[in-house]
Amino acid sequence: MKALSRAIGILGSGQLGRMTALAAAEMGIKAHIFAPDADTSPAGEVAFRAVTAAYDDEDALLDFAHGLDAVTSEFENVPARTMQLLQKLCPVSPGPQALHIAQNRLREKDLARRLGITTPDYQPVRSADDLAAGLARLNGQAILKTTELGYDGKGQIRLSSDTHTADMAAQIWADIGKVEAILESFVPFTAELSFLVWRDAKGSTGVFAPTRNIHKNGILFSSTAPAPDISPALIKQGEEAVTAIAEAVDLFGILAMEAFVGADGGLIFNEIAPRPHNSFHWTIEGCETSQFHQLVRLLAGLGPGQTRARGVYIMENLLGEDLSRLAALYASGNKSVHLYGKSDARRGRKMGHVTWQCDISR
Ligand code: AMP
Repeated sequence: MKALSRAIGILGSGQLGRMTALAAAEMGIKAHIFAPDADTSPAGEVAFRAVTAAYDDEDALLDFAHGLDAVTSEFENVPARTMQLLQKLCPVSPGPQALHIAQNRLREKDLARRLGITTPDYQPVRSADDLAAGLARLNGQAILKTTELGYDGKGQIRLSSDTHTADMAAQIWADIGKVEAILESFVPFTAELSFLVWRDAKGSTGVFAPTRNIHKNGILFSSTAPAPDISPALIKQGEEAVTAIAEAVDLFGILAMEAFVGADGGLIFNEIAPRPHNSFHWTIEGCETSQFHQLVRLLAGLGPGQTRARGVYIMENLLGEDLSRLAALYASGNKSVHLYGKSDARRGRKMGHVTWQCDISR
């Protein structure tokens, strides 16, 4: 009997594409990577095929998509036109609406508000005057973020001065590059959580156990899951919120929502990412079906897998400066070390992660 041949496409060449391609390979599914630097990349080196071309190279895209069951993107800033073109040839994940919303922090927060999900106080900033007015309104305790292309704390400035003069506002506006931004009230949170939902082509949904996160310098430092010391009511609220978002954007694939627990114990929306998320890397060891396997299952039309957590897991990122710890991590014997195959171990760059099961009981 001839085995069924399945193939998925992934736009992007980083660690998320790499771990998706590895999951596909385990399932006998061929992963095709498309990126401007695919041939020498973390994803390209483990894929069945790596196509190196620009995201607006229409001929290369048409050739790439030929024969694929579906195409996904490991990052949300893929040009809308690229996805529109691919959509004519095969199903695309996370889908046009999900990408459109997730590409802009204002649109994300507007959607959350529309769905009745609490957000920090926020307003658009399109000039130094907007910024000065916003800072006065928020008593100077705020975070200014570019609406597009920010990640890992990049494109954002924490503001905490009691007095912001017009000159200071003009300088900050210049520092952020004079691009559209969002000014948010600073949330004095007691915890940071993330939620992950999957949604298949027929609209069925499900969630993974939520994660409790610690960030350092705007970069995820560690995740513990299932999120300890969080009430079941709050978890239910987050799961309902992320599911409502998935339905509102007609998600095909997986989507993460980051949220804060505020000083009053309520859940406050931060942002979404319609793709595998760093705070769910623990699912590789911690679930029967990891976030990457689930995405591949949905793309290949295989139906969702079981996503219950097998226990309590901790994941820590390994940044460039953490690689000196590798020998100790290997020596511990009970830690799963994942490296992304990046050669340049710069400070603050995500080079890998490590996961272990811990014995605290919930
Ligand atoms: P983001 O890129 O929006 O996920 O921000 C990165 C990190 O900065 C978050 O995980 C928080 O630790 C912190 N942060 C972002 N926005 C806020 C906010 N409005 N109030 C307090 N901390 C924030």
